[in-house]
Amino acid sequence: SNTARVAGRHFLQIPGPTPVPDRILRAMDMPVLDHRGPEFQKLGRRVLENVKTVFKTRAPVIIYPASGTGAWEAGLSNCLSPGDKVLMYETGHFATLWRNMAVKLALDPVFIGSDWRQGADPEAIGAALAEDKAHAIKAVCVVHNETSTGCVSPIAKVRKAIDQANHPALLLVDTISSLASIDYRHDEWGVDVTVAGSQKGLMLPPGLSFNAVSDKALAAAKASRSPKLFWSWEEMLPANRAGYFPYTPATNLLYGLDAAIDMLHEEGLENVFARHDRHAAATRAAVEAWGLEVLCRVPEHYSSSLTAVLVPDGHDADAFRARALEAFDISLGTGLTKLAGKVFRIGHLGDTNDLTILGALAGVEMGLELAGIPHKKGGVAAAMAHFTAAARSALPRA
Ligand code: PLP
Repeated sequence: SNTARVAGRHFLQIPGPTPVPDRILRAMDMPVLDHRGPEFQKLGRRVLENVKTVFKTRAPVIIYPASGTGAWEAGLSNCLSPGDKVLMYETGHFATLWRNMAVKLALDPVFIGSDWRQGADPEAIGAALAEDKAHAIKAVCVVHNETSTGCVSPIAKVRKAIDQANHPALLLVDTISSLASIDYRHDEWGVDVTVAGSQKGLMLPPGLSFNAVSDKALAAAKASRSPKLFWSWEEMLPANRAGYFPYTPATNLLYGLDAAIDMLHEEGLENVFARHDRHAAATRAAVEAWGLEVLCRVPEHYSSSLTAVLVPDGHDADAFRARALEAFDISLGTGLTKLAGKVFRIGHLGDTNDLTILGALAGVEMGLELAGIPHKKGGVAAAMAHFTAAARSALPRA
């Protein structure tokens, strides 16, 4: 090929997939195992047990050789039946895709509309449940971190709203772009199905996805009439109890998952979350200095995984992204469906540090200039000031 080599590391600053650390790449660089043999069983048992710590649960976590969309389908098809009403919340593009899937699976979604600039409103969910005296609604489905908008939904408050309405609906939560980046507690928040994926906070390549499953969800699964086999928890769980899978698992990705779990605990999950909070705050400081607007308009809902930035009217966010990629080898997230051309998204999740974020923000600041997007200078300097202050306050006092 006559494509010129680009030196150094590509800046993969989309909100997932995220850069895979060398340690994880090396962990996966192994001969493929007999997935029915004793060596695999040790790996299977270890990851199936240890992955629970990342979800903060003691419940089973099912691992699919599939992208996140598969785990969405698994969640809906295991514990619901055709015709079931499900209450879903329109946080953005991904919540809309999940709703569309519910329609295809012959469920009957009730979609609470919103403006794609905030997380789910627990009061609106509580009100819809309080009206449902007959308990026709079988599940509430919420996206924890809406990757298309950079808004987080307050899951603990959603739980409280369900309880206050005294409603028996299951709670299904999509944590595909929040797990291992933003604090999340499957057990404490009484979540029935947590949906997750490998390619974001877990720092793995795409290809694994997850369902953490409560006792209540397992009981609901017994009554489900939705056809399924690949996604069936009832096929999966007996095999998992022995450390195996009912079909061929993604063996080498599981080696990577084993390493990723170790890395998250070596850093400490709370430190991982604090690091993401810091990177998000520095990014927002840069956006403010540029004089641009963060899409999320509710500060308590700001995402620590990504920041979506509005470009001024009459300017094209995708033309800017293309220019930044061409000039500086940086990939930024595109605006999805109704946000196309209007926003770009800066991913700051996964295996990143302060200097990586500064490099990314420098790429954005220079790209804005090259693309002729009106802005002020000083975004990178504002982020540097944030990091310097954070580092100073983190030092032990003399
Ligand atoms: N849900 C959310 C919040 C996502 O961010 C994504 C992908 O980015 C998905 C669902 C779909 O996952 P996948 O593309 O891995 O199938």
